[in-house]
Amino acid sequence: MTTASKPLFDGPFEGSPRAAEIIARVQDFLHGELAELARAHGVDHEHGADRALLQQVWRRSHAMGFYGMTLPEQMGGLGLPVLDHVLVKEAIYASGSPFAPHVFGELSGPPRVGALARQATPQQMAQFIVPVAQAEMAICFALTEAEAGSDAGAVQTRAVLDGEHYVVNGRKRFISGSPFADAAVLLASTAAEDADEREVTAFFVDLHAPGVRVETGYKTMAGQSSTGDIVLEDCRVPLANRIGAPGRGLALALGRISVNRLLHCPAMLGLAQLALRDARDYALQRRQFGRSIAQFQAIQHMLADMATELAAARALMLGTARALDAGGAARAETSMAKLFCSETAFRVADRAVQIHGGEGIVQGRRVEFLFRMLRMYRVLTGTSEIQKNTIAKELLASA
Ligand SMILES: Cc1cc2nc3c(=O)[nH]c(=O)nc-3n(C[C@H](O)[C@H](O)[C@H](O)COP(=O)(O)OP(=O)(O)OC[C@H]3O[C@@H](n4cnc5c(N)ncnc54)[C@H](O)[C@@H]3O)c2cc1C
Repeated sequence: MTTASKPLFDGPFEGSPRAAEIIARVQDFLHGELAELARAHGVDHEHGADRALLQQVWRRSHAMGFYGMTLPEQMGGLGLPVLDHVLVKEAIYASGSPFAPHVFGELSGPPRVGALARQATPQQMAQFIVPVAQAEMAICFALTEAEAGSDAGAVQTRAVLDGEHYVVNGRKRFISGSPFADAAVLLASTAAEDADEREVTAFFVDLHAPGVRVETGYKTMAGQSSTGDIVLEDCRVPLANRIGAPGRGLALALGRISVNRLLHCPAMLGLAQLALRDARDYALQRRQFGRSIAQFQAIQHMLADMATELAAARALMLGTARALDAGGAARAETSMAKLFCSETAFRVADRAVQIHGGEGIVQGRRVEFLFRMLRMYRVLTGTSEIQKNTIAKELLASA
């Protein structure tokens, strides 16, 4: 199920010795203990783990020092530079493990709350952030609604103050990790009903509280069902759960949007590397017309294009990570990286399917899964069109 990942081409490691050491340990964890766990429980990319098994993975990852790695140092994180973070994450995804998103707890763990620690009250730290950091609680991030997708500020879920509580009504759509989360960082409108101005505020919401339920039942095209809707009906959220001031919700949620955009790139490129590896290995072993198909120039050129485009995307990702580490805002560059890496990773997967011929379009082949998975990143966390909007805006403003 997993593949020990030897670099496709020899070259110096781009990160720090500490990152190299973490990668070696995390690969042992993925290829050893987690691969064994996946085999024992029949978990693969199409068949996810239940909450109990996920919690086991989170706790083990926490015990080994990986789970909270991305948190600020004062919360037990490693304070890694963005470059090292990107390289470790790329290695995790290039392992092919179905548990890859759970090593850092990307869907429902520390990356969901790390940036909120500075705004959180001591009570919020104790009730939500520390238990999430320690792998005892799972938390999702709920912004999107049926009418508020790319236009995230258009949220219609309303939170109305009533004494010591907000009464919240609305429906969040497509929330990753919600089917197995205990709580959500949830964005709701606190604007008066007739107000012209938008006012979006962030809250910690207990998903086990009365008046809130998670509806599941749909699968993404990649076959996973870790996404759900959160339905709130007169849900009373304590005033003490409001994060920061009213109207600061979007700024809090999107405050690290540039870094977060970049941090999706290593996942896509790690998976695209797998697709290239699988295509290369298949081309070498598949024989037609009395020879391996790797001997046909048409196949060689597809492999060469895949490797070249992947190298270019990777260079953009690493260069942008260095710019962020040097203190740059890199708003245009992070959007360029998200745009180019997601479009490139999908083209790589498409050619990998082509090289596999009929085998590539049969369910159960890894390239077929990678094709579906990598299609999704062109939409997730800001579509390609929205990235182009940001790049153009930055470019035009610089004139
Ligand atoms: C599997 C999955 C997991 C997700 N996880 C989460 C999560 O955990 N939390 C969360 O809050 N959200 C989550 N989302 C929501 C996700 O971020 C949105 O789906 C995404 O931002 C796009 O919004 P939309 O689907 O409403 O598309 P729309 O905004 O309706 O876009 C439709 C089309 O119109 C284009 N478009 C829209 N506006 C413009 C414009 N101004 N200029 C040019 N083109 C435009 C888009 O590029 C796209 O092609 C998830 C979605 C999925 C599918």
